[in-house]
Amino acid sequence: MRLCPLGTTICLVAPITLVGVGLLAFAPPQAATQEWEVHDRNRPQPAMVSVASCCAAPSDATVLFGGTDTSAFLSGSDACKWIAENGELCITSGSGNVQTKESFGSCQLHIEWMVPETCKCEGQQGCNSGIFFMGRYELQLLGSNPNKTYVDGMAGAMYGQYPPLVNACKPNGQWNMYDVIFTAPKFAAGGDLEQAGAMTVFFNGVLVQNHSIIKGATAHMQKAQYSAHAPKLPISIQDHGDPLRFRNIWIRPLAD
Ligand code: MG
Repeated sequence: MRLCPLGTTICLVAPITLVGVGLLAFAPPQAATQEWEVHDRNRPQPAMVSVASCCAAPSDATVLFGGTDTSAFLSGSDACKWIAENGELCITSGSGNVQTKESFGSCQLHIEWMVPETCKCEGQQGCNSGIFFMGRYELQLLGSNPNKTYVDGMAGAMYGQYPPLVNACKPNGQWNMYDVIFTAPKFAAGGDLEQAGAMTVFFNGVLVQNHSIIKGATAHMQKAQYSAHAPKLPISIQDHGDPLRFRNIWIRPLAD
């Protein structure tokens, strides 16, 4: 900054600069609004977790389905009616949705799914399922290679809200993989929406939802709307009448 004698035109800049300095002097110190200083040596270390091969559950994950045990899921208030077969969780015809026994809010979810090669996909029919976070916010699951349907209803779509950024779906008979960061919505005590939820989704390792803001509970042919609910709720998987299979399902709850 250049210093100048009073009375010169350049000096007109000085008061502005001084005002700026004055404001800085009265501004609260950064430390008061930050939980930690930059490079604070006392900041707690993140927990160490061990990671095996690609997509195996890390050591701090809760395994919802690892190949044989279906007990992390319920069919309504009954034991899970879907069956474990050859390491896969299989929808049994007409048994309805299943939901996790445990409730979750914000979380990281990994799930692998496959549309059997024998399935015939015709739009929304023949190869449809979905992951409903908190029982109401659907990440669509649909055989989409090939299968033309409305784009906010294809694989990787937040149903009725956002199409996937790209179609990363594998052909029927091959395993697909979703890795999802779900941010739960928050509601004020009176029930008003305080903060909308969001989803980030990697589909076979490809980003297809980039922190997409959830517009409300999934609805068919209707505008999504929020209604207040508990901060944690079960995750459900849809039985749309089609024989999809799942494997390697694990979850890591995240702090809100
Ligand atoms: Mg669906």
